[in-house]
Amino acid sequence: MRLLTKKTDMNLNGTKALVVGMKKSGIASAEMLVREGAVVCATDLKPLDQLPEAAEVLARLHIPFRQQSPEVFDGHDLIVLSPDVPADLPPLEQACQRGVRVIGEVELAAPFLKGETIGITGSNGKTTTTSLIGHILRESGVTVQVGGNIGTPLTAMVDSSRADGWNVLELSSFQLETIGQFRAHIGLALNVTQNHLDRHHTFENYAAAKGRLFETQRAGDFAVLNAEDPICVGYAERTAATVQWFSSRRKVTPGASLCSDKLILDGKLLMEAGEIPIRGRHNVENVLAASIAAARAGVSRPQIAAAVRTFRAVEHRLEFVRSIGGIDFYNDSKATSVDATLKAVDAFSGGLWVILGGKDKGLDYAALREPLAAKAHAAVLIGAAAGKIAGQLQGAVPLVDAKTLDAAIAHAYRSGSPGDTVLLAPACASFDQFKSYEHRGEVFKQIVNRLEPKE
Ligand code: ADP
Repeated sequence: MRLLTKKTDMNLNGTKALVVGMKKSGIASAEMLVREGAVVCATDLKPLDQLPEAAEVLARLHIPFRQQSPEVFDGHDLIVLSPDVPADLPPLEQACQRGVRVIGEVELAAPFLKGETIGITGSNGKTTTTSLIGHILRESGVTVQVGGNIGTPLTAMVDSSRADGWNVLELSSFQLETIGQFRAHIGLALNVTQNHLDRHHTFENYAAAKGRLFETQRAGDFAVLNAEDPICVGYAERTAATVQWFSSRRKVTPGASLCSDKLILDGKLLMEAGEIPIRGRHNVENVLAASIAAARAGVSRPQIAAAVRTFRAVEHRLEFVRSIGGIDFYNDSKATSVDATLKAVDAFSGGLWVILGGKDKGLDYAALREPLAAKAHAAVLIGAAAGKIAGQLQGAVPLVDAKTLDAAIAHAYRSGSPGDTVLLAPACASFDQFKSYEHRGEVFKQIVNRLEPKE
């Protein structure tokens, strides 16, 4: 559902505003609204004593808080939603009908943000590509700040934005769903696969939410789209921007392609695929997309290539940890779906000990049978999903039920030979044994870094 929004009035002074959702994005929105002179209230499903960070900021800024109920939504001119608040809650739809502006945090920040904007969306690869574009621009001497769905919320980037600088923003479907005025001078769609259907209800709604990024662009802007993804191709029909294509499968123009191990940008050689320090075809795609964006932001091909060569994987995303006894260890704790694990396995030619398992998300692990049969010595299983995974992989690859991450690493290290790779790419959520995927990745790295040389 798209909410109707009135045209932005840049002046928020005296506006009665309600911020819904009191995590990072909501806190930053409340702070910005106070700075702009709005009369702010805050709400959340949780009581304030369970939101310590918000409680501190709200007390300091004298912002009243009420726990969420239908009545909380009455009496405001503006309602600002955090990304995890569904925009189709009945009281929000009723508020819209009363003429209240209902927007997301990205839309709130948009009219105040100085400089030009690169917006990156997609089901997978957003964080990697956003960080890579930030790295290329920074290394090339461009003034740049990076944030959005990663790190700093957009409302907290307003004050530090500069008229001569670039804002590089990771944008989720939830953040894009409610945009009307927010505009990316350069917008990227990496891929669109099934995700977040609990919130968007249908794949079409999810794809349409991401597509908003291109609908608000204007002539002279650029839309950087994956030529191999039918949904991304569809966005070309819905934008006034100039379309740039990328493909790791065939030559496409205008844009960037992988042609037999060479990356071609704007018809000229950018670099060899072997020079890219992050593994896998999916990362070649991220580099192709990032290179187009950087080129349109004015960075030269040699500068782009030099910066790509010095980019290091974002933490927990196919991150190289250590080599010991000739065995490499990689942390891809962020691979919380079968699809991401397939991409990780695809990045290696063989000799794998793949650590799988955790909290099951209802996925079908059978898709891993063939690639693991071809490339893995064993699948080493951990956590609550081990039984289900074993049932679906039985017969395709040797299975070891190690139960814990500690035991899985020990088994793979003990059994591995020089040239092998131990890969944590669990295809599951982490919450059965860990606080988050970051926590799981940290623990993996700590254990690996403590390994002693073999006798
Ligand atoms: P996001 O921010 O969209 O979740 P990340 O950069 O954090 O993306 O990567 C998440 C996972 O998706 C990683 O484990 C990686 O294996 C996989 N991935 C990264 N880039 C791509 C891509 N272009 N296509 C498909 N999968 C990808």
